[in-house]
Amino acid sequence: MTTPAERTNLLDLTPAAAEALLREFATARGVGAYRGGQVARHLWSPAAPDFQAMTDLPLAFRSELDAAFTLPRLELTTEQRSTDGTRKFLFRLHDGQTIETVAIPDGDRVTLCISSQAGCALQCSFCATGLMGFYRNLTPSEIAGQVRELALLPEPVKPTNIVFMGMGEPLMNWKAVQVVLTILNDPAGFGIGARHITVSTVGVLPGIEALAKRPEQFRLAISVHAPSDELRRRLMPVNIKFPLEQVIDAAATFSRRVTFEYVMLGGVNDQPEHASQLAALAKRCGAFVNLIPLHPGGAGAYTPTSTAGIQRFAALIAKAGVEVAVRKSRGTDIAAACGQLRVERLRRRPPRAPDQHGEIEVA
Ligand code: SAH
Repeated sequence: MTTPAERTNLLDLTPAAAEALLREFATARGVGAYRGGQVARHLWSPAAPDFQAMTDLPLAFRSELDAAFTLPRLELTTEQRSTDGTRKFLFRLHDGQTIETVAIPDGDRVTLCISSQAGCALQCSFCATGLMGFYRNLTPSEIAGQVRELALLPEPVKPTNIVFMGMGEPLMNWKAVQVVLTILNDPAGFGIGARHITVSTVGVLPGIEALAKRPEQFRLAISVHAPSDELRRRLMPVNIKFPLEQVIDAAATFSRRVTFEYVMLGGVNDQPEHASQLAALAKRCGAFVNLIPLHPGGAGAYTPTSTAGIQRFAALIAKAGVEVAVRKSRGTDIAAACGQLRVERLRRRPPRAPDQHGEIEVA
């Protein structure tokens, strides 16, 4: 009898690697390599919950698959619905860790905000996840599994966009995230366009380089939050390891357009001089600036900048010639606190070719 530990988790593999393995397996079992291809098509979209549900396969072969491979599920423990349609899902992992996923409908788009780590090591002073500390990296199947589980609900959630803005720092878990990016984008996975997938980071330099090397047009969002090293060090201890200047330089070499995220902290980073410093940084790397109203339920004793204050700050940035938007907070009544939001554009530049400009959906 094979124990689960000896079985291969197919959901930790890229679709191509899983298919190659399954074809080899099917051939060895004498059912024809095409049977392996059939199994591979059931992994992600549309997803089968388990091998037994793959009813186009012979019964005996399904049992053989069960003995050799696993398709681990995440246990959905809680779902909350906001009055604005935002839904927050809490999943329990095999070791008892819990992670959050948020689904944000907006017109005909549905953005999923997914987690890449259980907890987070970075301790940004305003962030709720930082308070809990770091537990562990998620595996590819635990990250992509969040999307898979929502597609398996009785009323499936079908995302048009994915943002790595849930718990954790995706570029400190690149080993898993790089596999997940393939699963999300590959037509044999979820088939979501690369320009609809955004990786959000505090500025982990090796990770930005690795993302830049990917041939797909994945989007990069940088959590800037302060326009000077001195202030950023206070808000984000990671700035000591990856200083703002170097992060901006890395963003400037990224071939695709970058988004700056900037959470508005009353009296801390929302003064006119911050706006001009931020605009100068954005110009250096052609970034689009997304201003984020502070989500209640974060950490620290911060007060949100008023709506009028955010508008004034945005107007200063726009006046400096930088494209800027204010995110609309979503799901505040259910503490969907990974800063989830709809973009309200204040100012549009003249349209550009879609591959240069793209839509900044939520990031
Ligand atoms: N570690 C990554 C991704 C996770 S956080 C990163 O930092 O980019 C996703 C976004 O939510 C980040 O921009 C983060 O700074 C922001 N965020 C965290 N706490 C927040 C709060 N209380 N209100 C608004 N945005 C917040």
